[in-house]
Amino acid sequence: MLKLENVTKYYDNFKAVDNLSFTVKEGEIFGLLGVNGAGKTTTFRMIIGLLDSTEGNITLDGKKIDYNVSDKIGFLTEERSLLTKLTVKEQVIFYGVLKGLEEKEILKRLDYWLDRFHITDYKEKKIKELSKGNQQKIQFITSIINEPKLLILDEPFSGLDPINVELFMDVIRELKKKGTSIIFSSHRMEHVELFCEKLVILVHGQSVLSGSLKEIKKSYRKKNIHVKADANIDALKKVKGVVDVLETSEDIVIKIESDDYIDDVFNEIKKYKNVTEFRVEDPSLNEIFLSKVGVVYES
Ligand code: ATP
Repeated sequence: MLKLENVTKYYDNFKAVDNLSFTVKEGEIFGLLGVNGAGKTTTFRMIIGLLDSTEGNITLDGKKIDYNVSDKIGFLTEERSLLTKLTVKEQVIFYGVLKGLEEKEILKRLDYWLDRFHITDYKEKKIKELSKGNQQKIQFITSIINEPKLLILDEPFSGLDPINVELFMDVIRELKKKGTSIIFSSHRMEHVELFCEKLVILVHGQSVLSGSLKEIKKSYRKKNIHVKADANIDALKKVKGVVDVLETSEDIVIKIESDDYIDDVFNEIKKYKNVTEFRVEDPSLNEIFLSKVGVVYES
């Protein structure tokens, strides 16, 4: 289990991470969210021991993270950092050996992952000959070649097409099933929502929201009511607790301030003809994120 306890990081006088605490258990997928500059990469660098925290403790299975423990960690960095003149095989062997693996074992694992990512033909190709997406697959493979207990993925989906996003997600789920603890950052809330179980939202290095995604959504009292009916939009906008009414190609979405106002909306809808749907939904993670961070989140 990864445990961060009251971790703070200063760069000179600037506080980049402020009293951050969370745990990631075995087989758990944890999201570290925040806008640019919120402190995600700094947190990752402290976890892998590249940076020292100014205050607080970081442990993996109860042990401080030093050189011995770091062999059990995989890290996909945000910037792509492959040695482009090497072949795929040479690159992965290079990383595997650094992690203390025998060449024979590395090659066995490499064949499995190349097949899993549908790029078996690229084994002898130079990295620079590969497309960006395929380079990213190789970088991902290098970060998991040591079968890490803890896998850190900094923006793993950036630059991938939807098919490859799905493939990466599948692989991440496979690793989770094997018990790997996975912590990742992403700017795309829909990706986080798809498979993240627990999360922290960072604003200026501070956690403003943390916990299980399910609980966060349930406890968030703003709701969206989806309606199909011959509705009077102006009248709906005037119902108590309604903050906005959107007409989409599918239905009408009524945003309410809190679940206290569901009945008020229902009573208004009862007046309308052709009501075929009345559905109360939790807001999307993106909406929750925006309300906590208070800025438009760029993907
Ligand atoms: P992004 O999404 O853009 O990668 P991030 O959440 O990963 O952002 P960090 O890179 O951890 O954010 O940066 C957090 C803050 O610390 C930023 O204000 C950044 O400018 C500052 N910072 C990062 N590295 C250093 C450094 N080496 N020296 C001084 N300040 C730094």
